[in-house]
Amino acid sequence: MSELEVLVELQELDTRLAQLSHRSETLPEHRQIVELRAEDARLGEQLAKITSETEVLRQAQRDREAEVQGLEDKIAKSTSALYGGEMTSPKEATALQNEIDSILRRQAVVEDQIIELMEQIEPFALEEAEIEGKRTVGGETLRDVDQLLAATQTEIEAERRAVNKERAEVEERGGVDLVALYDRNRNRMGDHTAVGRLVGTSCGACFLGISAVEIDRIRRLPSNEPSECPECGALLIR
Ligand SMILES: [Zn+2]
Repeated sequence: MSELEVLVELQELDTRLAQLSHRSETLPEHRQIVELRAEDARLGEQLAKITSETEVLRQAQRDREAEVQGLEDKIAKSTSALYGGEMTSPKEATALQNEIDSILRRQAVVEDQIIELMEQIEPFALEEAEIEGKRTVGGETLRDVDQLLAATQTEIEAERRAVNKERAEVEERGGVDLVALYDRNRNRMGDHTAVGRLVGTSCGACFLGISAVEIDRIRRLPSNEPSECPECGALLIR
């Protein structure tokens, strides 16, 4: 086996590293996460719109509820005055009773308004609940996808570490000079074409034929001396 075989090994390992990087970057979960986040943002906007549109109605409901509370307090106070024995005359008692009746009438009116407001708010509230439900489900899916992505990335990372370890061993076997030559060529030519096997009289990287004179020269080189394809510059394995 040619001493230059380590170049092929390095190229294969680098190809695997590049494939791992590519796989890690193009995992479908990346896209899914982007889509889920966009959907959640869209639902969030929809929810905010409905909430802001119904705020006037909700404020009206709160105002009337506060008013009812005030009316109930007044009734309680007047009732306790009426039956507390503080009355000095029946006339005063009648006036107080009339006041209580009038407050009760107002209370009935306001309570009807509250019911009406609640009926107006209800379809919006249902829509809000539906959107919140969708967001909850989306959030759970997002967590699942996140976990799946993390697990796959951990797997890829372990594989990357194993390949890097293997590469370090090959580097040690290849020696500093050969590795430096390979790295230079790879930086210049890219991952898959830095090294080519000589197949007959053709370069395995560019598939072009090499002239008989060049082939002859290359074949005469010592087995450990690297040579380059005169056509593409790939390091030739012979
Ligand atoms: Zn070539």
